[in-house]
Amino acid sequence: MVNAQPYPVIDVWELDRSAIGATIAAVQRPGREGKEGGVLWIGTRGQTSAVRAVVIPAGEGVVEAADFWQVTPEVFGAVSRWASERAWSLLGICHTHGDGIPARLSPQDRAHLVRAPGILAVVIGSAGREDNPQRWGWYEFTSGAYRAISSRERQRRLHLTTDADIGVWAADRRGCRPVANS
Ligand SMILES: [Zn+2]
Repeated sequence: MVNAQPYPVIDVWELDRSAIGATIAAVQRPGREGKEGGVLWIGTRGQTSAVRAVVIPAGEGVVEAADFWQVTPEVFGAVSRWASERAWSLLGICHTHGDGIPARLSPQDRAHLVRAPGILAVVIGSAGREDNPQRWGWYEFTSGAYRAISSRERQRRLHLTTDADIGVWAADRRGCRPVANS
């Protein structure tokens, strides 16, 4: 069945703890160098959306700076093509903020992040050493802006699982390849 609605409304996100672990491991690498890092959460989109893959953009087309993390449209395009072959979609964009910087979207983040209905933006504090997702900043793009998701709302809408099969992939503008030992 073809889903004619490109952005089905998301009620619940299923996120496996292994995806959280892979996310933290990926963003701590640039964090150790004093830089922001980030990953993309990719999976099936529907009323219940499930993260199936953690995609780590790296190399050309990825900016990891002390106060900034950005992925070029070319890399997003390559990831989107790869995901659509699997009937997956971009569900979330996670990035770190360094020590002493609040785990909240900055004006620069709001200006540069992908703007599409239902996309999650997650900010991980302390350069990725903050490993408690409850202390991360959670936002959803709705009605033209990123809106914070309160902890109460997350209790209902964010389901943490422990048994999902999560792939870890590296991405650049040529596409995605599996990361070894994942
Ligand atoms: Zn930021």
